Amino acid sequence: MMVVGLTGGIGSGKTTVLKMFQKYGIDCYIADVEAKKLMNSSNEIKKEVIDVFGNQAYIDNQLNRKYIAQIVFQNPDKLDLLNSIVHPKVRKHFRKFVENSTSAYVIYESAILFENNGEKQCDFIITVSAPKNVRIQRVIARDNVSEIEVLHRIKNQLSDEEKISKSDFVIENIDLELTKLQVRIIHQELLKAIDTLKE
Ligand code: ATP
Repeated sequence: MMVVGLTGGIGSGKTTVLKMFQKYGIDCYIADVEAKKLMNSSNEIKKEVIDVFGNQAYIDNQLNRKYIAQIVFQNPDKLDLLNSIVHPKVRKHFRKFVENSTSAYVIYESAILFENNGEKQCDFIITVSAPKNVRIQRVIARDNVSEIEVLHRIKNQLSDEEKISKSDFVIENIDLELTKLQVRIIHQELLKAIDTLKE
């Protein structure tokens, strides 16, 4: 099964683009959503998180997000540590998802695909890109957060330029109609690549 990684900075439009691929019947795995679920359901993760962050990390068996966020916000090393606990399990879970999928290819979506070395499991990578000021305005409008908060989140991610240099495809997501067109072209290219591999 061909795996396509989809990444892009905060507010670039990954979810928006993903929905366009879903319309073509492509199964999509949203790493962040699955990671959040696994943090509450996997006893293995729970144990390791408590080892690092203490018993307060969980309240009534549910991850204490506020407490964890407070710590990792001030301490990037702890964020790396948290990622190193959660992401191997997410990848394992994703492999099962791939085994069960019947779509032409699958998409693995993650804002921190490269930061977590997730690109190794991908045959192709797509970066969704948009100007920084546009992304900031989108996130402020969507999440009702301050500009400083958005800038802080952007600072923790690789730049668009770095992501693009490591990608096979780039989607410039500014005008939605043009984005749809780019998705259609890339989808066709990917189907072609699958056919070529079969020959
Ligand atoms: P995050 O990394 O924060 O999850 P994301 O990359 O998944 O963000 P989206 O949630 O798809 O980004 O988009 C951010 C916001 O911008 C959403 O409210 C979305 O509806 C809006 N948006 C996305 N693309 C466009 C566009 N081309 N034109 C106008 N609004 C857009």
